Amino acid sequence: MIYDVLIIGAGPAGCSAALTLRNRNKTVLMAYTGDGALGLAEKINNYPGTRGKSGREMLELFRAEALDAGAEIRKDKVSQLLPMGDTFSAIVGPEIVSARSVLLTIGASRGKEIPGEQTLLGRGVSYCATCDAMLYRGRPVLVIGTDQESVEEANFLSGVCSSVQYLCEKKHDLTALNEKIVRLPGKPGAVERADGTQIRVRTEDRAYTADCVFILRPAVAPGTLLPGLTTDGAAIRHDEKMRTSVPRVCVAGDAAGAPLQVAKAVGDGCIAALSLAEDLKTGAPE
Ligand SMILES: Cc1cc2nc3c(=O)[nH]c(=O)nc-3n(C[C@H](O)[C@H](O)[C@H](O)COP(=O)(O)OP(=O)(O)OC[C@H]3O[C@@H](n4cnc5c(N)ncnc54)[C@H](O)[C@@H]3O)c2cc1C
Repeated sequence: MIYDVLIIGAGPAGCSAALTLRNRNKTVLMAYTGDGALGLAEKINNYPGTRGKSGREMLELFRAEALDAGAEIRKDKVSQLLPMGDTFSAIVGPEIVSARSVLLTIGASRGKEIPGEQTLLGRGVSYCATCDAMLYRGRPVLVIGTDQESVEEANFLSGVCSSVQYLCEKKHDLTALNEKIVRLPGKPGAVERADGTQIRVRTEDRAYTADCVFILRPAVAPGTLLPGLTTDGAAIRHDEKMRTSVPRVCVAGDAAGAPLQVAKAVGDGCIAALSLAEDLKTGAPE
């Protein structure tokens, strides 16, 4: 199946866009990794009609509405988007998904890259354990983890790879980490090629090697997700209709820049959805 629109993110911007797109009879897949910024908000007092609901309560309502409207929703990271002429191929969790257009509602926080990771991406550095584990079956790997999801993916790798070393990029709970996995001290400082096919990760005072380094974060930098996207600082550059520098790709919400608020995210999502619906009808300007 080829979806009309792949929405990356299921926060207020993505859910708002999904409703408008479904009203225009477009097929929609939303892929998300977690609750985003709204999931962290204790109470929202500046969005009409919510009467001080928590961020989580609002999210549940938003997603239920998008589902009821007929959007498909799946909890999977989108790690790469590739333009393929009239469509995009997206790596969504372990699968390749096709869509005619894309809406980026990936929120504001994307973490800082480790020096060297971009150069080695796809050549010994991977962002997706589910996608690439089999390439490293029976071989030693190293995971750079950020959250509970990373712990689960590292546990999965420990069943496939000969050994797994685990280094924390951010502090998080490691109690569920499989006992076979070796925890490393320090923070990742750089990733570089070592001898032969091996990759070396440097911390402040040590270095570790493996055949592949899995950097497992809940989000991917926009330029890595889709080469050719132009950014203004942390925000993805867009016109007044939320179109980005890549045809048939729009942006909405915090990913499009300030003000970082639910009301603005919802409004952006609606404008972006209308632009994509228009582009699907007429063909986007190249
Ligand atoms: C603590 C806190 C309190 C806040 N309080 C308020 C408030 O009172 N009022 C207010 O108006 N605003 C508040 N905000 C801001 C508000 O939450 C954001 O402006 C709003 O959530 C932005 O919506 P969004 O859809 O753009 O992004 P987000 O809600 O951040 O959603 C981003 C989505 O993208 C997904 N994602 C990212 N990368 C990928 C990827 N590669 N693959 C798949 N999915 C991906 C995430 O899983 C998530 O679903 C608060 C924010 C915080 C952090």
